[in-house]
Amino acid sequence: MADFKALDDLGNDWGDVAGKRVLVREDLNVPMAGGTVTDDTRLRAAVPTVAELSDRGAVVLVLAHFGRPKGRPDPAMSLSLVTKPFEAVLGRPVRFVDWDGAEAAVATMQPGDVALVENTRFLAGEEANDPDTVARMAALGDLYVNDAFSAAHRAHASTEGLARALPAYAGRQMEAELDALNKALGTPEHPVAAVVGGAKVSTKLDVLKHLVTRVDHLVIGGGMANTFLAARGVDVGRSLCEHELTATAEEVLDAADRANCTVHLPYDVVVATEFRAHAPTRTVNVHEVGGDEMILDLGPSAVESLGDVLKNCRTLVWNGPLGAFETPPFDAATVSLARTAAALTVGGSLVSVAGGGDTVAALNQAGVGGDFTFVSTAGGAFLEWMEGRELPGVAALMR
Ligand code: ADP
Ligand code: MG
Repeated sequence: MADFKALDDLGNDWGDVAGKRVLVREDLNVPMAGGTVTDDTRLRAAVPTVAELSDRGAVVLVLAHFGRPKGRPDPAMSLSLVTKPFEAVLGRPVRFVDWDGAEAAVATMQPGDVALVENTRFLAGEEANDPDTVARMAALGDLYVNDAFSAAHRAHASTEGLARALPAYAGRQMEAELDALNKALGTPEHPVAAVVGGAKVSTKLDVLKHLVTRVDHLVIGGGMANTFLAARGVDVGRSLCEHELTATAEEVLDAADRANCTVHLPYDVVVATEFRAHAPTRTVNVHEVGGDEMILDLGPSAVESLGDVLKNCRTLVWNGPLGAFETPPFDAATVSLARTAAALTVGGSLVSVAGGGDTVAALNQAGVGGDFTFVSTAGGAFLEWMEGRELPGVAALMR
């Protein structure tokens, strides 16, 4: 991966940034209920970059989107609702600025001041990356910092356009994410293992196709493994299975073969005739699944041998749970392999990077989210990166 510009370069390029107006793109798209923020992870993640620039005397203008307002103002999606919560987390005053009053407001700001500008998606040209909208935003600042990896897969005015219009740098959060992802798939230490699970092959096909060319071991788990088993002639009973994609599954297996990537499919599985918590289960070889049974998790022998694979690997990238982890006991394989990966990471033999909404939830359920080298909360951007795609917001930060 080519090299991107980060906050340290900003100092080298511009020296003292005191008094410089810096537009900082953050992801402040927090969940809210009854007027309060129910999860402030994203607010906390924005703090290091905003605080650092403020400490360095910059005039900091934070840009962010909030919800999907379709290019026009909608009071329910105003970032004024997030200003107080962000101020509390940042520990210094944050002024809220409307798009109409932005220019006048910026002119009165002092070095170190922080303002949060109204929802970028209130502007019709934001999502279209319209040049006039880019120019309107760019007029407010001297420099641009993008700290929102999670929005970097979209070529919007505030994520891509601005990076072309102003000198552009990655914020601390973006820098940490790019460094971690680069360590996992860009220039990783081999052997590299990828664990891909989740419900369906159809949502992760491009991920699988890319990974077979990059990793030494590909572990396929979750519901999507059933489609691969069916492709191999296994009767998966009433399991979730995309029978129309068995030929595609074969193609992935052939591509893996050509690329010398070892694919690990389940050989023992946990099955049940009902999909509910604490339903009666059987642990069987994949060839012994009954016609009325569903595969809902990997079996203990498969998990143990996957643990041995990880012990011999230096790098792990993980997306997707191995079973229907929300419904106990079908979380057992995911929890067990996650703990093994966490222990190897803590022991220093493995670099582990994971991402995906349900994956993050599963790792937290296993109590090991904090022990992985890096856990990405970026969702769509993380998946596009796993597909090997160039993210426009990242490409625009390259030297
Ligand atoms: P992520 O959000 O991490 O990218 P996905 O959304 O692709 O992950 O997949 C997670 C979903 O896959 C979970 O809801 C989980 O219950 C489901 N799943 C995993 N294994 C199975 C299975 N064997 N049968 C049915 N659903 C499964
Ligand atoms: Mg999901």
